[in-house]
Amino acid sequence: MAAPESAALDTVRTRGEAFLRDVSREYYSSHAGLKPAAELQPIYEKHREAYGDESLELAMNLLKSSTPGSEEHRSGRMLVEWLLESRAGRELAPLEEREIAWEGAAMIPLADGGLEPYRRASITIANTRDARERRALDDARARLVAAELAPMRQERLSREKEIIERAGIAPSYLDTFDALAGISIRGLRDDCKQFLRDTQSMWDDVLPEFLKHGLGITPAEATRADAVALMRVPEFDSGFPSEAMEREVRRQVTEMGASPDANGRVRYDTGEREGKRARAFCAPVTIPDEVYLVIRPHGGQNDWQTLLHELGHALHFANIDTQLPFEHRWLGDNSITEGYAMLFDHRMKDRGWLSRYTELSKTDLPRYLRSAGFEELQFLRRYCAKLIYEVELYGGNVSWSALPDLYVETLTGATGFKYQRSDAFVDVDPRFYSARYLRAWQLQSLLAETLVDRFNDDWWRNPHAGPWIVQELFARGQRELAEEQAQRVAKKSLSFAPLVKAIEGLLT
Ligand SMILES: [Zn+2]
Repeated sequence: MAAPESAALDTVRTRGEAFLRDVSREYYSSHAGLKPAAELQPIYEKHREAYGDESLELAMNLLKSSTPGSEEHRSGRMLVEWLLESRAGRELAPLEEREIAWEGAAMIPLADGGLEPYRRASITIANTRDARERRALDDARARLVAAELAPMRQERLSREKEIIERAGIAPSYLDTFDALAGISIRGLRDDCKQFLRDTQSMWDDVLPEFLKHGLGITPAEATRADAVALMRVPEFDSGFPSEAMEREVRRQVTEMGASPDANGRVRYDTGEREGKRARAFCAPVTIPDEVYLVIRPHGGQNDWQTLLHELGHALHFANIDTQLPFEHRWLGDNSITEGYAMLFDHRMKDRGWLSRYTELSKTDLPRYLRSAGFEELQFLRRYCAKLIYEVELYGGNVSWSALPDLYVETLTGATGFKYQRSDAFVDVDPRFYSARYLRAWQLQSLLAETLVDRFNDDWWRNPHAGPWIVQELFARGQRELAEEQAQRVAKKSLSFAPLVKAIEGLLT
């Protein structure tokens, strides 16, 4: 009995991997500027059996017939989660394409009669030093979004909720997420509320100072547009030159005793090319053998941070054990890979690392670290508020028409920046990706603590640390949930406690 079933499941795995390879190669080619646009529809068409009814039925059987806690159950959970996501993605693709087309063409009408391309607005807002001009542009953007983009997004979110609930895995969207992701989303929501309470007085202390120094404004008038401008202050960019970026990051990984390109499996695409995306990204085309790290070096703080983040992903994918089954290499809890990416990008908040690999001066370093602590607290408070709001959005107890006010109240309350009603459906990470980031944030702080315990404060240049990271973390793919890994490696549960401690350290 068991044999034909397991042969059929292996077919699901083989087809799944072929499908994901094609998707990943398409993203790589289009985002790297090797072809003008991603053509995903033909790939979905070619691989329709990979995520078809038969595949879902086999995966559902595996999930339902296996004992919770067993490896079969783990595989069933991963496969069903991915298949549901792919099927929803396929069904919602026309809506998504409509939004992408809108975003590419939309123009914001300005008060002076001019036009601002929608896609460029956030960059212009960040770079506009005059507060009135900046807020006027954001108000014009919000009017256009409310009239045109927000209704499209709302439709996509409500359709997605219907598709997931229709699958009948659990009674509600939230319960389905818990069952398939292995996370308690309501538990995480409660931890977020606690984090906001625990850091409220710290936030009240630092916000006025940074607003005054960065933008010359007070908390009473601060808006989300001001927050965007504040986080882009280029004050320290000269400490992060473009020509040193790749060289210094490779040097650090080498000093740690690991290969900066995983012995050739990570391919650095660093050439200048028209149509290449401005931000670094990572595309695992074959895991672990062919992983692209695409960079277009501009230099500056954000660029270094993005490169480190994407390098964490790339080294993870390229070091995954070839013998692992498809689901442990390609699927699973993305809090794991985001945790490794954040472990790398948080070196931008590490005094010793900054002194060794960047050109920040000794006099700038203390001010830079304080500002990094402020930025970390702002982003964490924003993400906690987003998750609290998104649980209400998917929870179904608040009507769609009441959500914009709830969004403004929640995000404004947590950050002190006044948010816009128009963004209630636009500023949403679908399927609780914000929960993956929050768990990753928690995981990286535990991993960093463990690395300091094992390999000292400067673990990032200890030649024993790299091999340990490769073997004990990267090689295992995403078989574990973030919580399981925290228990195995740090003997602790995930929580916000180590993050609060780290932020306090930066802000003092
Ligand atoms: Zn990431």
